[in-house]
Amino acid sequence: MRIGSIGGRAWLVTADGQGVDIAEASDGRFAPDPQAVYDIWDELRIWSAEFPVDRLVHVDPARFDLPVPRPRQVFAIGANYRAHAAEAGVAPPEQPVIFTKFPSCLTGPNDAVSIRHERVDWEVELVVVMGRKAQNVPSTAAWDHVAGLAVGQDISERSIQRLGPMPQFSMAKSLPGFGPIGPLIVTPDEFADPDDLELGCAVNGVTMQSSRTSDFIFSISELVEYISHLVPIYPGDLIFTGTPEGVGATRKPPIFLKPGDILTTWVEGIGTLVNPITEEQAA
Ligand code: ZN
Repeated sequence: MRIGSIGGRAWLVTADGQGVDIAEASDGRFAPDPQAVYDIWDELRIWSAEFPVDRLVHVDPARFDLPVPRPRQVFAIGANYRAHAAEAGVAPPEQPVIFTKFPSCLTGPNDAVSIRHERVDWEVELVVVMGRKAQNVPSTAAWDHVAGLAVGQDISERSIQRLGPMPQFSMAKSLPGFGPIGPLIVTPDEFADPDDLELGCAVNGVTMQSSRTSDFIFSISELVEYISHLVPIYPGDLIFTGTPEGVGATRKPPIFLKPGDILTTWVEGIGTLVNPITEEQAA
């Protein structure tokens, strides 16, 4: 199953690019709010198997907007790919490194990202969207709590990240627009192997990152187990699972995003984010 948002309303979308507005097609049984679908995920999955296919219409992927607009919590993982830990000069962590992206940074798969700093960097990430409350969940049951997977960008301002005596990951990665996600939420059963997906990003068509999630240090199951033993994870919460090698800051010389760039970000089997980078206008 694939879920997207158009005009701030939840849509069920097929693999061949057709879809229905969930509230309309269910004759009001389900609310239009795309955040609400995760609270009734099991019901929606049952309904989706028998939804009225005669109401399908063609969907233009450029119309998709933010599919998870108000998660209660957004977890993000640092140094979760072996090759990225190596390029960052850190030893592979022995337990997950966790920070947050404030939910106000989330933006849609086709939205412009306006910037006003000099050292804004890209980080392609696979994003997990939770479908059931997870508390003290063993890794063997972790996937049962996942609604689906999305493409994400953990856009990062490296100067703010390194201001002061300790890293400020959460602030540096939460400026407005620094969390594009989408274009769809795809359920785990749609993948041959949801633990081994090709992902990458490009700036103006030049590939900057290209890897596979099989390079993870901590798998999705291990992350859900670890986090859910510390805090409850709620339906609709997000986990940004870390970025592979190829960020701009560790290049020689470094490369950063600038107004006019087009940032494209993809994960195999899910789709592509297309985010133009624009200059933030003074208010
Ligand atoms: Zn990241």
